[in-house]
Amino acid sequence: MPSYVINDKCDGCKALDKTACQHICPNDLMVLNKETMKAYNREPEMCWECYNCVKICPQQAVEVRGYADFVPLGATVSPLRSTDSIMWTVKFRNGLLKRFKFPIRTTAEGTAVPDGGWPTAGDDLKSPVLFTEPASLGLPEVLTLKK
Ligand code: SF4
Ligand code: SF4
Repeated sequence: MPSYVINDKCDGCKALDKTACQHICPNDLMVLNKETMKAYNREPEMCWECYNCVKICPQQAVEVRGYADFVPLGATVSPLRSTDSIMWTVKFRNGLLKRFKFPIRTTAEGTAVPDGGWPTAGDDLKSPVLFTEPASLGLPEVLTLKK
């Protein structure tokens, strides 16, 4: 089920140029109603249910119905992020609450190295190899079929 905004919780990201949910949506679905200063998902049927807007919202104002494999009775799921973990609150239709906490990083916040420290990617977009190859494979050169 696509994401939806709980109006009472949304503060329009305090009138920033672009809201957090607009910034993060890979499908450009979230928009801000400038009159009400509330965001909404403008095309729910196009939502990939990627949960990005759900996780980034600082007000926990975006919710989804969890997938049937982990919430078969259609509970709502909402996250609470910290610098090193995320806690999901699952609320079932009979009022039962369950919480699950998971680590989300293997490095301290702010210490991630862009490109993993590998040299910048080249310009050859037609190359079939990844930009870290062959070094990341531990090979002197990429193996190819010899004709
Ligand atoms: S990120 Fe959350 S608070 Fe900000 S506009 Fe979107 S729904 Fe509202
Ligand atoms: S769940 Fe993903 S695709 Fe759907 S509105 Fe949120 S960010 Fe966009």
